[in-house]
Amino acid sequence: MTVLGHTLGFPRIGLYRELKYALEQYWRNTINQDKLLNIGKMIRIRHWGQQIKAGIDLIPVGDFAWYDHVLTTSMMLNNIPKRYYSSISNQTTNNLDILFNIARGYSKNNVNIIPSEMKKWFNTNYHYIVPEFIQDQEFKLNWTQLFDEIDEASSYYNHPIKPIILGPLTYLWIGKTKEKEFDKLSLLSPLLLVYQEILDILSKKNINWVQIDEPALVLELPNEWKQAYLYAYQKLHHNNFKILLTTYFDSIYHQLDLIEKFSIDGLHVDLVSNQKNNNILLLHEQLPKNWVLSAGIINGKNIWKTNLYYWFKQLYPIITQRKIWIGSSCSLLHSPIDLNLETNLNNNIKTWFSFALQKCSEIKMLCDTLNNRNHNNSLKINILKQHYDSVHNTRLHSDFIHNSKVQERCKNISDVPVSRQTAHHIRFKLQRKRFNLPLYPTTTIGSFPQTQDLRNLRLKFKNNQINKNHYHANLEQYIKQIITEQEKLDLDILVHGEPERNDMVEYFGEHLNGFSFTQHGWIQSYGSRCVKPPIIIGDISRTKPITQKWINYAQSLTKKPIKGILTGPVTILTWSFVREDIKRHTVALQLALSIRDEVMDLEKSGISIIQIDEPAFREGLPLKKSEQKKYLTWAIHAFKITVSSVQNDTQIHTHMCYSEFDEIMHYLLKLDADVISIEASRSDLKLLQFIQKNTEKYLNEIGPGIYDIHSTNKPSISSLVKKLNTFLKYIPKDKLWVNPDCGLKTRSWSETKHSLHNMVAAAKILRSSL
Ligand code: GLN
Ligand code: ZN
Repeated sequence: MTVLGHTLGFPRIGLYRELKYALEQYWRNTINQDKLLNIGKMIRIRHWGQQIKAGIDLIPVGDFAWYDHVLTTSMMLNNIPKRYYSSISNQTTNNLDILFNIARGYSKNNVNIIPSEMKKWFNTNYHYIVPEFIQDQEFKLNWTQLFDEIDEASSYYNHPIKPIILGPLTYLWIGKTKEKEFDKLSLLSPLLLVYQEILDILSKKNINWVQIDEPALVLELPNEWKQAYLYAYQKLHHNNFKILLTTYFDSIYHQLDLIEKFSIDGLHVDLVSNQKNNNILLLHEQLPKNWVLSAGIINGKNIWKTNLYYWFKQLYPIITQRKIWIGSSCSLLHSPIDLNLETNLNNNIKTWFSFALQKCSEIKMLCDTLNNRNHNNSLKINILKQHYDSVHNTRLHSDFIHNSKVQERCKNISDVPVSRQTAHHIRFKLQRKRFNLPLYPTTTIGSFPQTQDLRNLRLKFKNNQINKNHYHANLEQYIKQIITEQEKLDLDILVHGEPERNDMVEYFGEHLNGFSFTQHGWIQSYGSRCVKPPIIIGDISRTKPITQKWINYAQSLTKKPIKGILTGPVTILTWSFVREDIKRHTVALQLALSIRDEVMDLEKSGISIIQIDEPAFREGLPLKKSEQKKYLTWAIHAFKITVSSVQNDTQIHTHMCYSEFDEIMHYLLKLDADVISIEASRSDLKLLQFIQKNTEKYLNEIGPGIYDIHSTNKPSISSLVKKLNTFLKYIPKDKLWVNPDCGLKTRSWSETKHSLHNMVAAAKILRSSL
């Protein structure tokens, strides 16, 4: 039986982020829709071609999306929130524009429509647009993107195609009920009718396999949902093609008793995301022998080369017993595209990595070696061995990796206090006295608009086109402007605005030892937004202060307190590609100690308020509830030792965004930050209810984001007053802070000034109404 190689999907943004730029031009009306469509097509055709050239047997179709693949699914199923129909349907009938409006909001001619909520895609840093469901809603097949792309792929390449659709149960699971609560499973039957229609159309195309993604299966699901899976995959069975059900982002052993009953033809499993659970033999034994077992052994979420020889040995005994496919663990959406483009990486280090295209070659290499088992294969096996041995050997003694001082410090961690010296209620009084704050203090989350000029300035410095003095003088000009504007706006706690930071994680990575960087390793975060995660290759330490210069400069310009903003250890960890030779919690500890050094230096230099951003705190959470406690324990520990030794009247803030905190809120309280700012504007008020219920326990202060900085809609004063009044129903008035829900770096100055002006005005109205 021949072993086949496939990917679960390819990055869609393009090697040079062509899709990003095209989208942004389209939104600015500088290119028309035809031009945008052409660029999308060019990217798809290139990616299929590259995968075919690398030796991938089945090319993925349906992984491309104009904004997000979940939103594409909503459009395909005609699940368009009603507010878009009623208000703009007479102005916009174009599906693509409706899609963008749902994702980004709509604001024209006095019509303001809020965008759909955005949420993290399982445990990745990719955000999807949350499907909205109302009771008894109907679905119908609405747009044909998938079918068009299948035709497109077949017209360009004479190569087997594997269409990808998001499975109905994961789609329902990740969506949200609107208007009133109801059981989402009541929508399964009508939903399946449309899925059947889709599969019928696919069956008329020249296709042998369809990939249906059901990542929700890796979760610990309620029983009704498990039964629903069984039912759905009976209904979706089709005689004209085979179904490969894909699961990823975690192990699937707990679900095998259920899955083995599905009417499917193959199962894809992620064998890398849960190191404890990667026993392919066990899976082979339990699953029906006539199924394909697709082994996801090439990590789609990290950049390290795969130990192909290890997997060769694992797979070799079973390839004669069943059909095996080799695949990426999840879609390569979460990988950079091509390592060959990286010209700045140290040559030694470069050999350790594998990006999407190299991963395709790894898939091919392993398939070839397994398929050649009957011939004299020792040469191939040797090559397979060397593929990873060289990585292992050079890493073992590399100075880039091992730092005995850091290791020593981590060993002696019990010398570092974990908690602040006093309880929050004591610190609260000291801090209120020190800062003399009004009720409902106003502040921002840290960054101010990053204009094109500012980006150009940083780029010029990076490319050595301007010298350090010139660069620093210019940054100071920005900081001065940012301080002046904040004073004009009459905010209470100011920030320096983060103009020196390209990205909140990359910036800190660049100033710490133990990191490496790519030039082109962009990963889609949401829509046109991408991030370029640094790579943690070795032990982490800080040599000298990182942020002090800028934050002190800002403080020298104003009498109001400047809040110094740092990125927290858990977020740096989560938003980096992390080394796999030591435990994640050890890396977190090394980061915590490095940021702790920065906190102590900032305090010593006179900064009295320090914010540790931890927007990725929840994202790091294991998907299985039963594994979460362990993570939370070390993640909270890392946060606490970062700030534990500051004075009682130094105020520690933390910021988290886009999160559903309800289940883990009681853990977050253990962080014991003096003030926590969170995203609350796009989501419901569940979080506030939690806080209300726990005010006895939770005496610390809180700033639920009062407006959504991701949307271009500008909040009016009256809407903000209303929002604050709602917050006050849940939060005691001396504990409420007023702030946007995230940093302002993606907004324009005019939007920023307008929104912040209204925010401060709303706080003042509330104060005066006392
Ligand atoms: N301080 C950061 C900023 O304002 C926080 C960003 C974030 O939470 N993602 O940009
Ligand atoms: Zn945020």
